[in-house]
Amino acid sequence: ANGARVPVLVVGTGYGGSVAALRLAQAGVDVHMVEMGMTWDTPGSDGKIFSGMRSPDYRAYWLRTRTKQPLSNFLGFPIDKDVPKYTGILDAEDFGGILVYQGRGVGGGSLVNGGMAVTPKRSRFSAILPSVNADEMYNVYYPRANSGLGVNEIDRAWFDTTDCYQYARVGRKHAQRSGFEFVYVPNVYDFNYMKQEAAGAVPKSALNAEILYGNNYGKKSLQKTYLAQAKATGRVAISAQHRVTSVSPASGGGYTVAIEQIDTTGNVVATKTVTAARVFFAAGSVGTSKLLVKLKATGALPNLNGEIGKGWGDNGNVMVGRANHLWDPTGSLQSGMPTGGIDNWDAGGAFAEVAPLPTGIETYASFYLSITNTPHRAEFSWNGSAGRVDLNWQTAWKQSSIDMAKSIFDKINSKEGTIYRTDLFGTYKIWGDHLTYHPLGGAVLNKATDNYGRLHGHPGLYAIDGSLIPGNTSVNPFVTITALAERNIEKIIATDL
Ligand code: FAD
Repeated sequence: ANGARVPVLVVGTGYGGSVAALRLAQAGVDVHMVEMGMTWDTPGSDGKIFSGMRSPDYRAYWLRTRTKQPLSNFLGFPIDKDVPKYTGILDAEDFGGILVYQGRGVGGGSLVNGGMAVTPKRSRFSAILPSVNADEMYNVYYPRANSGLGVNEIDRAWFDTTDCYQYARVGRKHAQRSGFEFVYVPNVYDFNYMKQEAAGAVPKSALNAEILYGNNYGKKSLQKTYLAQAKATGRVAISAQHRVTSVSPASGGGYTVAIEQIDTTGNVVATKTVTAARVFFAAGSVGTSKLLVKLKATGALPNLNGEIGKGWGDNGNVMVGRANHLWDPTGSLQSGMPTGGIDNWDAGGAFAEVAPLPTGIETYASFYLSITNTPHRAEFSWNGSAGRVDLNWQTAWKQSSIDMAKSIFDKINSKEGTIYRTDLFGTYKIWGDHLTYHPLGGAVLNKATDNYGRLHGHPGLYAIDGSLIPGNTSVNPFVTITALAERNIEKIIATDL
């Protein structure tokens, strides 16, 4: 409520924020979480909470009047369409040089993502977070994160026979025939539920192409894991459709947090202030960076250091499709949850997930999202005249990621005698190089913060989300974001409270 005093305020309800809230509450601290997106607990007129992927509706996009689908075209035809402006679940945030996809709502990115729960190879960890003790991460915090998130693995015998992973088996065959390592990827989607979907025993979500715009049944989003546990402590309150706009030192100690309450069209319906002894920034890499860069530049938090806004990367994301021969169909039924990848990181700098193209018809296409070892890092800066935060990412920087992805797909194409699809991202455009799903960095650990996420210059302020990670994790990022948050909050509870 307006004017309240709270011990801890958490900005955002994604992975970092949910871990912080649960562990603080378990330590006996009352926590108030502020989330600008919706609660996503009420079905629409179709009886479902979330929109499907093949027909995105008003629930699909964050304050846009036209969809902005990652695959803009199919068979040469543009597929975007008008939708009513609404605080929908997926934000396609346009920074000029790059489109950054992010989840909006209670649960953050866990609402929209593919659920791929990947722990990076230990040999690569020091390149991801050089100041963090890898023994502790692999012995304690990665296992804790995997258990808290409810990560599970697919039954290999089922994988080998079910129709819905025909596309992944084609991906495996092509990878292995070219001498690449194919790895099975764990997921937070309940694979037992998926089996029941395939058997026709339960309502379908993965097998109904539910990805990107929310998942109605089988996915263990944060709402079902960390946030459910946090609420059960009785110490965690969540205010949805509330956006934090400012944090500044309060005269009597602690911080004054300015908050706007918004309606479903994004209009501000009330402004509030809360005083918090401690504030955890968990608004995601982009959300946390935008807040901190603005607050430093406008003098609200003048003592933040010069690393704020720096070290931002796209996890090297690029997408591509390959056109298969008629004897290699990928199936008209495709599970929306990917469960395999091609690892050519050490030799070629790319890890490619074999992704679904769940159109509902046979496409003879193999589709991939690659994570690559991009050298490029961008920086956020305050644009005072426009009153917004800019990001200086250059579209041309994706070329190095494309080259790394080609280390896999050029070889597969030549072995199989196949070619790239040119109809998915425009007309005669091969690479999906305009976007990222994996924004990372902007308040990098041990640079903008100390080695546990305490922001330099303002005691009692913390960053605890993807903003801490310097631009790349070599695999999909949320397990690493969760494990790092588990590590940092344990230290903070032990020493700061
Ligand atoms: P987020 O999860 O982004 O949470 C931040 C929250 O803060 C959001 O809910 C946001 O609305 C809120 N917020 C922002 N600003 C404010 C503000 N000013 N006031 C109040 N609230 C605010 N990763 C994987 O590991 N595996 C995958 O399979 C995978 N697939 C993906 C698919 C898609 C389509 C997308 C978009 C992402 C995917 N990711 C995947 C990435 C993963 O979801 C993110 O890395 C992760 O969610 C980031 O966690 P976070 O805690 O940093 O922040």
